Amino acid sequence: MRVRFWGTRGSIPVALTAADIRDKLAAALLAAGGRKFASFSEACAYAQQELPHSLTHTFGGHTSCVELDAGDDEYYVCDMGSGARAFGAHVLARQGGRPATVNVFMSHMHWDHMMGFPFFGPAYVPRTRLRIHGCHEALEHAFRLQQSPPGFPVPFDTLGASIEFVRLEPGRAHLVSSLGVTPLLQRHSGDSYGYRFERGGRSVVYSTDSEHKLEDPAETERFVRFFRGADLVIFDAMYSLADAVSVKADWGHSSNVVGVEICQIAGARHLVLFHHEPANDDAAIDSLLRDARRLEELTRGARSPLQVSAAHDGLEIDL
Ligand SMILES: [Zn+2]
Ligand SMILES: [Zn+2]
Repeated sequence: MRVRFWGTRGSIPVALTAADIRDKLAAALLAAGGRKFASFSEACAYAQQELPHSLTHTFGGHTSCVELDAGDDEYYVCDMGSGARAFGAHVLARQGGRPATVNVFMSHMHWDHMMGFPFFGPAYVPRTRLRIHGCHEALEHAFRLQQSPPGFPVPFDTLGASIEFVRLEPGRAHLVSSLGVTPLLQRHSGDSYGYRFERGGRSVVYSTDSEHKLEDPAETERFVRFFRGADLVIFDAMYSLADAVSVKADWGHSSNVVGVEICQIAGARHLVLFHHEPANDDAAIDSLLRDARRLEELTRGARSPLQVSAAHDGLEIDL
């Protein structure tokens, strides 16, 4: 399985400002120290291999959209945040005119998780099949409402694709084409659901918009079971621990620290910090990532190492 991140920001899309780009360029020029490059590709290789990650990347501009490429003819994607526009372009390019079958798994229907759907190209293509899975009763209503006047000019009913809504039962294992999937209820305003996907002995957990109360052992145990031995856990780490337990307690999100703790107990292999706070710039996200890696090292003990990353749009992980 290959996991592709098309949108990794929480709540609202963000973009680098002109000043951000100027500062990264100036720092890169300084780092290069007058070095000459014979070609664009030589300069690219230098940027890729030698410049600090903080100068050549930016963390998540688009809101939640994560593709699971199972290596078969169908598409599987978690959430339809603003990253769905770029994901849709990828699907159309890869299909080259052939109609696609796309399986969508919705964590919940907060706007940042569905705002990309009206811009998802394949929805406009006749003979495309969209199966939108979720556990909320209001799933279909929310999609229709988003494209109702006066919010959007194209009504849902005029979309060219055939669109089916599929209710999944939380806590039960389902088979969706070639992918095993189990949803789990999460603590979030209006409820959200995490998904554990299994295929060919590999497992990926997508768990966003989920607040954890570690003082409740039964609840922690529920998530430890859900994350158990996962190859990859995509985790809502919107806040620092300090924010998550003070000002932003009960805001429905979690932290880098809690992600490390649950993944360690569950014996997961790779934790990806996800749903970045829109107010955090690249340096702030880098610092949350460094803190999480340091915590993992300090508390690892006899356990095997947990790899920790921070998601950015364009990140691909092979399992
Ligand atoms: Zn969200
Ligand atoms: Zn939410």
